[in-house]
Amino acid sequence: MTLRIHNTLSREKEAFKPLQEGKVGMYVCGPTVYDLAHIGNARPVVVFDVLYRLLKNIYGEGNVKYVRNITDVDDKINAKAQETGEDIAAITERTTKIFHADMAALGTLPPDEEPRATQHIKEMIALTETLIDKGHAYKKEGHVLFSVTEWDDYGKLSGNSRDEIIAGARVEVAPYKKDDADFVLWKPSEAGLPGWDTPWGRCRPGWHLECSAMSKKHLGEKFDIHGGGQDLIFPHHENEIAQSRCAHSTDLMAKYWMHNGYLMAEGEKMSKSLGNFYTVHDLLKEFPGEAIRLALLKTHYRQPLDFTKDGIAEAKRELDRFYTALRIAGDIEPGSAKLPEEVLIELEDDLNTPAALARMHDITSDLNNASSDDEKAKFKGNLLGAGHVLGLLQQDPEDWFKGETQEGDLIPAVIEALIAERNEARANKDFDRSDEMRDQLAADGIVLEDSADGTTWKRS
Ligand SMILES: [Zn+2]
Repeated sequence: MTLRIHNTLSREKEAFKPLQEGKVGMYVCGPTVYDLAHIGNARPVVVFDVLYRLLKNIYGEGNVKYVRNITDVDDKINAKAQETGEDIAAITERTTKIFHADMAALGTLPPDEEPRATQHIKEMIALTETLIDKGHAYKKEGHVLFSVTEWDDYGKLSGNSRDEIIAGARVEVAPYKKDDADFVLWKPSEAGLPGWDTPWGRCRPGWHLECSAMSKKHLGEKFDIHGGGQDLIFPHHENEIAQSRCAHSTDLMAKYWMHNGYLMAEGEKMSKSLGNFYTVHDLLKEFPGEAIRLALLKTHYRQPLDFTKDGIAEAKRELDRFYTALRIAGDIEPGSAKLPEEVLIELEDDLNTPAALARMHDITSDLNNASSDDEKAKFKGNLLGAGHVLGLLQQDPEDWFKGETQEGDLIPAVIEALIAERNEARANKDFDRSDEMRDQLAADGIVLEDSADGTTWKRS
């Protein structure tokens, strides 16, 4: 069995073979920290988290290096500061903190390295000097630009030829460009905006340059996987490749380029005016992070995803099914919680998460139907092992059913006290009273389940 992944460069599913045997390096473009992450921003974070977990499962914990940057210098951040009057450093610090908390609530692991653009200015200057020395970049009217026409491989990732790029006006036409397709490496920074002393004056870097410098520093000139959303293929990733390959004179930057599909919400492009603009932060007030995560993984990462609140509710019901089976299996020690073969096969097929989840439902049926403790232990282990690689089912089933207490909800201590009172009524054979209490709890959204082992509860 081999991991196969769709490579945007070749437009084919390819067998994954790392550049250095047994070691994997992966770079994913991280957030530009000026606003709360919306659910579209969360999709690549969750998708590549599953890939990261899978790679660690295949190659071993210490053999996978995952780098995801923070873009903390960008014109969008400057615009936000101007609009709100908040200090730039305060905006980026606050937004980064919320991003970390939101992504943790979605069950994603932190990357091994999380470089910040502002801490890699020296590397960006060095990369630019090399590009100028090699004739791939030039200075004009205070700007430093990459010369696209000097390099034949430009457009290979996106399939855009230079002429198509110009005709489609997908680049900014500016007087300081030798060719309209050229892109900015550094731009002059006026007083009041972030700027650094460079050989070309007081400048701030372009976004594409940031990722080339940070990936080189943390993963080297060539590395295995570069990921991001489909919207980054052009110009961002095309330009990263041009910069990195020209600066290092290499035949490739990343060997495999992986891109997740677009995300819509409630059937339409997300927009604040349509009311379907979902930030992760707001969704987390309404739904468990695990249900949001599952809703994202139910669609194959390369497919467009229509994200809906009904979809999260459906995902929550699926998690109820998984956790119910684990809960019924109770204290049975799981057999080795290893990723079972049938789930591994699906994930190795270009990260087919919907198929992997279908296998997890099969395992859940097996667990529900298991007659012996040995069988239960085996299926429980399989379900937990699969859940671990998908970043699901890692909490105690009791905690899942208790959920987080919302405003107006009965708190667990009160519920437990009412259950104790009801048990006393039952012990005294006062069934009218015990039924009345059951109905009262049901009216408050608490469902009781009586079994030989006692009474458990969950929120409906
Ligand atoms: Zn990037």
